Amino acid sequence: MSEYAKKVYEQVKAKNPGQPEFHQAVNEVLESLIPCLERHSIYKKNKILERIVEPERQVMFRVPWVDDNNEIQVNRGFRVQFNSAIGPYKGGLRFHPSVYLGIIKFLGFEQIYKNSLTGLPMGGAKGGSDFDPKGKSDNEVMRFCQSFMLELYRHVGPFKDVPAGDIGVGDREIGYMYGQYKKILNSTDGVLTGKGLEYGGSLIRPEATGYGAVYFAQEMLKTKGEEIKGKVATVSGSGNVAQYTVEKLNQLGAKAVTLSDSSGSIYDPDGITGKKFEFFLELKQLKRGRIKEYADEFNVEYRPNKRPWDIKCDLAFPSATQNEIEKQDAQNLVNNGVLSISEGANMPSTPEAVEIFLGSGIAFGPGKAANAGGVATSGLEMSQNSLRLSWTREEVDERLHQIMINIHKNAYEAAKVYGKPGNYVVGANIAGFLKVANAMIAQGYW
Ligand code: NDP
Repeated sequence: MSEYAKKVYEQVKAKNPGQPEFHQAVNEVLESLIPCLERHSIYKKNKILERIVEPERQVMFRVPWVDDNNEIQVNRGFRVQFNSAIGPYKGGLRFHPSVYLGIIKFLGFEQIYKNSLTGLPMGGAKGGSDFDPKGKSDNEVMRFCQSFMLELYRHVGPFKDVPAGDIGVGDREIGYMYGQYKKILNSTDGVLTGKGLEYGGSLIRPEATGYGAVYFAQEMLKTKGEEIKGKVATVSGSGNVAQYTVEKLNQLGAKAVTLSDSSGSIYDPDGITGKKFEFFLELKQLKRGRIKEYADEFNVEYRPNKRPWDIKCDLAFPSATQNEIEKQDAQNLVNNGVLSISEGANMPSTPEAVEIFLGSGIAFGPGKAANAGGVATSGLEMSQNSLRLSWTREEVDERLHQIMINIHKNAYEAAKVYGKPGNYVVGANIAGFLKVANAMIAQGYW
C-alpha cells in the first residue's frame, strides 16, 4: 500500500476499534485506489481519503417496542449517512441480530462507490437494527417498524436520505415503515424505496439485484467469449437476491443447482426450475419457510451447515451475506473450473478469497459493481415518484440492463487505464471514487 493510503488506513483502525468489517472494506478500497492516487496528487492534497473514510453523520438510537406477551423489548437503531457529495444519501436498512455499528459502516462505505458507479445522483448511506424479524408475528414486526420510524423520520427525506431494504427488510417491513412515516409527516413524498406497487413502488425493483448480478456476469463472460446459456450455477442464500438470480438464470438458459440459508444448503443437480422454482418462491415469500423444506419436498440433498462452494459449477453467485466465501471455498471453486463470480451479496468473499480469485484469472465481479442493480432501480423508483409516473416492466428492465452494461464497461475500462486489466475490484473502486472525489473537491471542504 502507498504511504498515504497506509497512513489513512492505520488512522481508521485506531479511531474505529472493534469494527473489523469496516476495516476490511476500507482496506480493500484504499489498496485498489493506489494507481489512481499515484497518478493524481490532487486527492492527497485535498485530503480526500481522510475525509471519505469519516461518515458525514452517524445516528444511533433506542427502539422500544412491545411484543405479543405485552413485554417491552429494546433494540438499537442505526443510520450512517456516509457521503452526500453526488446526491441525497441512499442505502438499505438491515434488520439482523448481527447488526452493530461496524457492519453498518462497512455497508455504508461500500455504498458510496456503488451508488456512484450506477451513474445516478445518489450519495452513500446504510442503516438498520439488531432486531431479528425471524420468528416474530406480523404485529410484532409492525410495532417494531413503527417505533424505528418514530426516530428515523427526523433524519430522512426525499432530498436528504432515501433508505431501502436489505437483509431482513422486505416489502412487509418497508410497508410498515412507510405507513408510519406518512402518519407522522402527513406526506407521501416517497421517502423509502422498495415500496409496494400499489403505493409508489417500481416494477422490477424486487427483481433488480438478482437480475443485475446475472447481467453483470453476462458482461464479464462476453469478455472471455462465453455466454450464460448452458452454464451450471451455484447460488447461496434464499432471500430476495437469490430468488431473482435464479429466475434470471432460468430465463437465460442456465441451470442453478444450489440455494442456502443460515442452517444449510440444498443441492438439486437437475436445476431449480419450473414447478420447483415456483415452490421455492412461495416457500420463501409467502410462508417464510426454511430451505430444508425444498429438499424434503423434492427429495434432493440437504447439507446441514454447509455452503455451496464445494459443488462443481461454471458460475457462482454468492447472495447471502458478508464473508461467506473463505479461502478454502475460493480454492474449491477455482479447482472445480469456475469461470466467473458475481457477488450479489455485499463483501461475501474474504480478502484471502478475493486474492485467490484475482490470482487465478477468473472473472471476479465485486459486490459494489455486480449487485448495484438493486440501488440503481431504487434510483429509478425515486425518478418515477418525482415524475408521478410508473414505467412498464419492460422499460425498467431495459434501463436496469443498460445500467449494468455501463457499470461493467466503466469498471473494465478504469482497470485497463490504471494498469490492472481484468481486475474489476480496482476498476470498480477507481471508477466509483473519481466521481465522488471530484465532487468533494468542487464543493470545498465540509
Ligand atoms: P434477505 O433477508 O432477503 O435474504 C438473506 C439470505 O441470506 C437468507 O437466505 C438468509 O438466511 C441468508 N443469510 C443471512 N445471514 C446469513 C448468515 N450469517 N449466514 C448464512 N446465511 C445468511 O436479504 P437479501 O437477499 O436482500 O440480501 C442478501 C445479500 O445481498 C446481503 O449481503 C445484502 O446486503 C445484499 N444486497 C441486497 C440488495 C437488495 O436489493 N435486497 C441490494 C444489494 C446487495 P436466513 O433466513 O437463515 O437468515
